[in-house]
Amino acid sequence: MRKIGLVGGMSWHSTLEYYRVLNEQVAATRGGHASARVVLESLDFAEIRECQQTGDWRRAGRLLAEAALRCQASGAEVVVICTNLMHRVADEVEAALDVPLLHIADAIADAAHARGWSQVGVLGTSWVAAEDFYVGRLARNGLRVHVPSPDEQTEIDRVIFEELTLGRVEEPSRAAYAEVIGRLRDAGAEAVVLACTEVGLLVRPEDSVLPLLDSADIHAEAAAAFAVAEPAGVS
Ligand code: GLU
Repeated sequence: MRKIGLVGGMSWHSTLEYYRVLNEQVAATRGGHASARVVLESLDFAEIRECQQTGDWRRAGRLLAEAALRCQASGAEVVVICTNLMHRVADEVEAALDVPLLHIADAIADAAHARGWSQVGVLGTSWVAAEDFYVGRLARNGLRVHVPSPDEQTEIDRVIFEELTLGRVEEPSRAAYAEVIGRLRDAGAEAVVLACTEVGLLVRPEDSVLPLLDSADIHAEAAAAFAVAEPAGVS
């Protein structure tokens, strides 16, 4: 089984979800006591958040690339960045590595196509909903993307950074997100991408008029599939 390198801690609340899903998937595939081979580089989210707020993406790229290299040095054969937003520096991380980086937007596009959907709503931070590294990449992967209005986006960001990444799940925020999902459906989305790894902690399937594509779960499932793709007994 191949070893997975996680660059996590952004925030740690969703990195927990990656660890759980990786192990569940490997156990489901291999059976018995099988569990995922994982190395975790968990960053200090305060440092990353400061980079986001000051627009210091060079420093963010360096911090993530160094963490990814430490995963590789510990034997990781694939690296996973456990956040949507920080894929803004995915190119820098990928360039530093010899092993592959499993891009979260590619995993989501594959999952959407596998379920027969070609139009998706995107519920994530404002960078994710606006910039080429994310929505552009989904579009290049053949998806038509619908995003929240500017006012909705302001509230989505507030909930992510003032609640979810601090481990807080609030009922009014759940209702507000459900309303946005309704609007995305009216715009033509067939499913909604929970394009922030903490949003799955807030929005459950029963809260949504659209089927969910939970980025943390889908990304972790793709990593687990990569890990077990070799025959049992290898390494
Ligand atoms: N975990 C969030 C995401 O998936 C946002 C936190 C962050 O990386 O800033 O985009």
